[in-house]
Amino acid sequence: MNKLLLILALLPFPLIAEIKVLSQNLQQGGFKLLELPAGSTVRLGGAAVPIVETPQGAYAMLGFDRKEAPARWLEICLPEKPCTTQKLTITSRTYITQNVRGAPKAKTNPNPAALKQMQADNAAIRAARAAVARDATQATNLGFLQPLKRPSTGRISGVYGSARLFDGQERSWHKGIDYAAPIGTPVVAPASGVVRLAQNTFMNGNLIMLDHGAGLNSMFAHLNTMQVKVGQVVRQGERIAEVGNTGRSSGPHLHWGLYVGATPIDPKLWVAQ
Ligand SMILES: [Zn+2]
Repeated sequence: MNKLLLILALLPFPLIAEIKVLSQNLQQGGFKLLELPAGSTVRLGGAAVPIVETPQGAYAMLGFDRKEAPARWLEICLPEKPCTTQKLTITSRTYITQNVRGAPKAKTNPNPAALKQMQADNAAIRAARAAVARDATQATNLGFLQPLKRPSTGRISGVYGSARLFDGQERSWHKGIDYAAPIGTPVVAPASGVVRLAQNTFMNGNLIMLDHGAGLNSMFAHLNTMQVKVGQVVRQGERIAEVGNTGRSSGPHLHWGLYVGATPIDPKLWVAQ
């Protein structure tokens, strides 16, 4: 069903020929990638969207939340023209409930020292995401224009959006895809990017955050080894880590989270599985 909804063709914007939709999937957890004339501005629901200006064109990346409202207003202002507003209709989805058993008790019911570690981890993740936002208009980081490749060969063992129950207790919802694979299986970059974080964390274990430009960023969690450093530029398909079982994990797997800014979107709507 997802494949039917996935549109990866060059579609003309229904109203203005100068605006191209490079890729989109208008459902909860989906996205929209626009090409615009230089000097344009874009607002989604009133919030400014970063524009990446390059000699080839200007681009804007939009992401839709797990529970995105059914209608979003997209305002586009082309240089020296009146602004236009388009209503985006976002299709609703239903999500499954997943029960996770056998995760270490110390990870599901953390003690005060662990809670302190988690606060420090969250601060580091926020700082990495702030760097993604700060550089979201940089013309040198264009990984977001590449069709994404899957980062692991493993079988999909967890899907986006599901409510997570740890030993029967609901803790959160699942912000990404899980690939089950043996420890040591290579993890490759789904698109080129800049490494924003590569460190051990309490919940996510060994964690890498990769900035693909225009606000699009990936998180790779529970890694065994990490083979990149903060600030390093990696190419699409380049090996960055090994699948592991670190952090709050009940078996060897790769967790891949994909975000537009801080909004988690569904990698499966974009990547060829
Ligand atoms: Zn996961």
